[in-house]
Parts: sequence; structure tokens; C-alpha cells
Amino acid sequence: MDDCLCGQKAAVFLYYSRKPLCEEHFIRMFDRRVRKTIRERRMLKKGDRIAIGLSGGKDSCVLLHSLAQLKEDIPIELVAVTINEGIDGYREKTLKTAHRECEKLGIEHVVFSFKEGAGKTMDEIASEKERIPCSYCGVLRRYLLNKGAREVGANKLAVGHNLDDVAQTVLMNIMRKEPSRLARFSEGMEGSARFVQRIRPLMRTPEKEVAIYAMLKGIELDNMDCPYAPFAFRGHVRKMLNETEEKYSGTKFKIVNSFFEMEDGLREMYKGKMSDCKSCGEPCSEDICMFCKLVKSFSKG
Ligand code: SF4
Ligand code: ZN
Repeated sequence: MDDCLCGQKAAVFLYYSRKPLCEEHFIRMFDRRVRKTIRERRMLKKGDRIAIGLSGGKDSCVLLHSLAQLKEDIPIELVAVTINEGIDGYREKTLKTAHRECEKLGIEHVVFSFKEGAGKTMDEIASEKERIPCSYCGVLRRYLLNKGAREVGANKLAVGHNLDDVAQTVLMNIMRKEPSRLARFSEGMEGSARFVQRIRPLMRTPEKEVAIYAMLKGIELDNMDCPYAPFAFRGHVRKMLNETEEKYSGTKFKIVNSFFEMEDGLREMYKGKMSDCKSCGEPCSEDICMFCKLVKSFSKG
């Protein structure tokens, strides 16, 4: 690998722009890109109280650090929110990491659980149901995160989705023929006062770079995968996308940029399709939200 332009030994090679960067210039580039994403997509304003969805994995821990750094320049309030799904042997470890990083940065940390919010742990649901665990987990987690963010008084919810996650989500929604979900993926869907606006400051940052940044910043992580991950459709899409990226560098950026070009049209198309669930009052796109439907199905066994 060539040296960084500053003459220092390169630590990272950005394959898509063919740039070798030393540690210092990589961190600088990373921070700048996060700030630029926040600015260009108008994610933050003075006085915002932001709930950070903190799973304890690399993405959300890096996001926590990035926003804590930003707080030094912009008057915002931060509170971290973790959803404990109840996955034995996995969630306890990431919860510890989440708590430790919050303590380091002096950020309040609040934990909500599937057991309390939905009546069952993810392990209990997975042992009883034949459906793929992740399809339950995703619905319950999104619901409880939104509710939790409101309960801690936040007006925005920051999630650690990186470029890879967003590219996967775009493809998954197309492959499943769910364009309305893609419309809701955009920030600030109108129609429900209970929907906390989601922001994704890492949405232009490749996953590998988040991992390198975490390492360079000394964020210690338990590199554990959820035991249910192999069942996820997302895993299949991730593999396919990584293979394509290897052959056609820049594909992930192109997918996400294509989404940015389409999102206004999508939002317009599905405008006003969001309301409040008739059973629990939380935001949804039908009469009864998926969370209520799933919880009802649990009681039937
Ligand atoms: Fe939930 Fe699936 Fe993620 Fe595990 S892999 S935390 S079950 S969504
Ligand atoms: Zn509901």
C-alpha cells in the first residue's frame, strides 16, 4: 500500500476512491463525512434531545462516540436507549459494552425489554414460533425503540445503520416488493405525532470503516453474532451485496445514492398513509400495528 498523502504510513486503503490514509487522516475523513451527512440531510438542530439506539455493537457504539463529540460543538442532549430482546448468551455481553461506553462518555443509559414490553423474550418466541426469529425481532425492536425514545423525552432517534445496512434494506424492500416500507425508511414520515424522527448519521459510511474507526478509537467490542442471525434474509442479501461490491467497486454507494434520488417521490407516493394503531395508539400504516398483531398471536400460543 502507498503512503498517505501527508507522507505517514497508510493504515487504511479506501478501495472505492483508491486513497491510502494514515490513522489521523482516516479519523478526520470519517468525522467529516458523519458531520456532512448530518448537515446535508438536516438531521440535527440546536436543542434536540436525541435518543441513541444503542445495541452495544460496533455501529451504535461508534455513533454514540460521534454524537458525544458533536455535542461539544452543538447544544444537544443525548440519552442512550437499549432494547434487551432476551437472547441468552448474546445480549448480556453487548449490554455490558453499551453500559461501559455510556459511563465513559457520561451519557444516561436506559434499557427496555421485550419481556416487559411484549410479554416474552426473543428466546421464548423463537422456541414457540416457526417463523424466522428476525421477522419478529425487527418489528418488536422498532416498536419498543420508538416508544422508548418518546418515554425518555427525545424528539429524535439516532440509529447506527451504516452504508451496508442501508444498501441491504433498500434491496430487501425491493426484493420483497415492499416499496411503502422504503418510503417509511426516510426520516420524518408525517401522519403520526407519536413517530419519533429517525436519523442515521452513519448511512454514508461503509461497515468496514466503522469497524476500523472503533478499533482506532479504542472502543472494545465483543465480536459476537446473534445466534439467530443465520436465519435472516438480511444475511443472504449481505453476502450477495459483498460479492457484487468485490467485483464492482462502489455498488453499495450507488444503491444508497439511487435511494436518495428516489426517496422524495416515494414519500410523496405514500404520504399520509401513516396513522395511529387502533389498539395501542402507536404509529402504523394499517388499522392495527404489526406489534399488536404479533403480541396477540403469542397469547394464542
Ligand atoms: Fe434480532 Fe435477528 Fe438481529 Fe438476532 S439477528 S438481534 S434475532 S434481528
Ligand atoms: Zn398497536
